[in-house]
Amino acid sequence: MIDTVAGLAADPSGSTAQDVVLRAENVHVEYDGERPTRAVRGVSFELRRGEVLGIAGESGCGKSTLAYAVTRMMKPPAQLTGGSVVFRDREGRETDLLALEGEELRAFRWNRLSMVFQSAMNALNPVTTVGRQFDDIYGAHRPEMTKSERAERTKALLEMVGIDAGRADGYPHELSGGMRQRVVIAMALALEPDVVIMDEPTTALDVVVQREILDEIERLREELGFSVIFITHDLGLLLEISDRLAVMYAGEIVEYAPAERLTDARHPYTQGLLRSFPDLVGERRELRGIPGSPPDLRGEVVGCAFADRCEYAFEPCRAVTPHLLDIAREGAAGWRAACHLNDPEHRSSVSDAEGPQS
Ligand code: SF4
Repeated sequence: MIDTVAGLAADPSGSTAQDVVLRAENVHVEYDGERPTRAVRGVSFELRRGEVLGIAGESGCGKSTLAYAVTRMMKPPAQLTGGSVVFRDREGRETDLLALEGEELRAFRWNRLSMVFQSAMNALNPVTTVGRQFDDIYGAHRPEMTKSERAERTKALLEMVGIDAGRADGYPHELSGGMRQRVVIAMALALEPDVVIMDEPTTALDVVVQREILDEIERLREELGFSVIFITHDLGLLLEISDRLAVMYAGEIVEYAPAERLTDARHPYTQGLLRSFPDLVGERRELRGIPGSPPDLRGEVVGCAFADRCEYAFEPCRAVTPHLLDIAREGAAGWRAACHLNDPEHRSSVSDAEGPQS
């Protein structure tokens, strides 16, 4: 189904429509229950062609739920309750992903948009050889491929991610954790998608293997030109590999910035995340976690969702919901934060408000 979606908000980052491969607008997801949990609350973002967009935040802030919503892989009790996600191909044709159903949706996945999950062992079938699992993808999406073409393609894909082609005849349990994750990445790239969503793809791996996999992803991205949405709680890792970053808290994006500017974060939650991990190359500094826990999202959140944990909270914070505002004075296109301390209207209401930019 090809469907042009009109009325999307103006791009805050200065990118042109041609640059954008995926645009999510005002996406809402709820987990059904006696009191539904509003896990994703009005999230909008853009993914440009060939870039890595990092999505960071604590566990339970809605990162993975957002990924499942974008890929339409949600299962009850999760349900999409609003918004649009538009994919734009290289010819400029737009597809409303949330309107796709049945065969159209199945054909879209893997071909245009694929996903790499955290646990490769769960993503792979333990009783089927690696090669057969690649064959399943070709069978579903490229039925015209001959047996020898499939074997050749699998060989090339495995070698592309640094695995001996002979491993195609083995089973997943015969591979190390790092090799399994490489196989999953190769499968995600099998049909040369435009977008790959990676949800904590290296979290279960040791740091040496993690580094190898990250280098591999970067090399493949440069070679093949796909875009990546990289989801992790590890902000330090995202600062290293992302072009732009979106920080999620309580189901919303609270800061959205070019990666090189985020070390100068303008949202107290982002600042708290930055203080929570060690800088291996910089000066020694005290690590401080963020006290408290995210709010209960069953029901309305009044004011700023971070207010109970924020050391800078002042009077408007509990009454007025902050929205993403341009940090225009810093001169970085697309840098936005949802905090009243960045809003002259609210900041002027208390003369002694001490804030991140003071
Ligand atoms: Fe803290 Fe208020 Fe900013 Fe929320 S709006 S992050 S409570 S200062």
